[in-house]
Amino acid sequence: MKAHHVAESTILELLKGTGFDCPICSALSLSTRSWIESTLSNLMHNFEPRGKLLKGGLCKRHRRLLFELASSEFNIGALPLSLLLDEMLPLQLKALEKRKVIYGDSCYLCKFEGEASQRYIDTFGNLFNLQRWKKLYEDSERIICADHSAKMLSHMKSKNREWFISVQKRKFSELHTLLKRYIKKHDHKSKEPFGIERNSWKLLLKLIGETKT
Ligand SMILES: [Zn+2]
Ligand SMILES: [Zn+2]
Repeated sequence: MKAHHVAESTILELLKGTGFDCPICSALSLSTRSWIESTLSNLMHNFEPRGKLLKGGLCKRHRRLLFELASSEFNIGALPLSLLLDEMLPLQLKALEKRKVIYGDSCYLCKFEGEASQRYIDTFGNLFNLQRWKKLYEDSERIICADHSAKMLSHMKSKNREWFISVQKRKFSELHTLLKRYIKKHDHKSKEPFGIERNSWKLLLKLIGETKT
């Protein structure tokens, strides 16, 4: 295993999970949360990671995530976040005083996720050269989301591309069937109660991507 790859045991665990969630998105969400937790849980001793957050500020998406984490029962609580903001505000005000203000594309959490995402994409891409891993993905409930699929496809050999696209089509069509069933049950003539298709739109919303069509 190369250093910039993810351990096979981690990938195996991700594929064993139940539900349609994208294994890469799930792994990224977990690692971002634990990075935030360890950085904010002990501000005094986490000088370096805290500095990374202060340097780049926070994008909208990660501000929303921090809001959720600090408002929920999650470990970090509102005080560590308040202490971070206490430091961040004067720095940002100082930056605004400069003649040329630079903003956007500097959020460290975005960079952190981008690098982790690349490691997962490289690892999946490599493993999918092997029949055993192809089969594991085919049999897994998990669906690699449209955005991560696009990133994977851009590095795949043509033989693997065909395989991957056909698996993705099959996996997404199962979810699409559930969505159609959900829509159909809204017909006033339908007497059937809602079942597992109730959540199909939520699941699909997480997996659909920013793919240009
Ligand atoms: Zn994903
Ligand atoms: Zn961000």
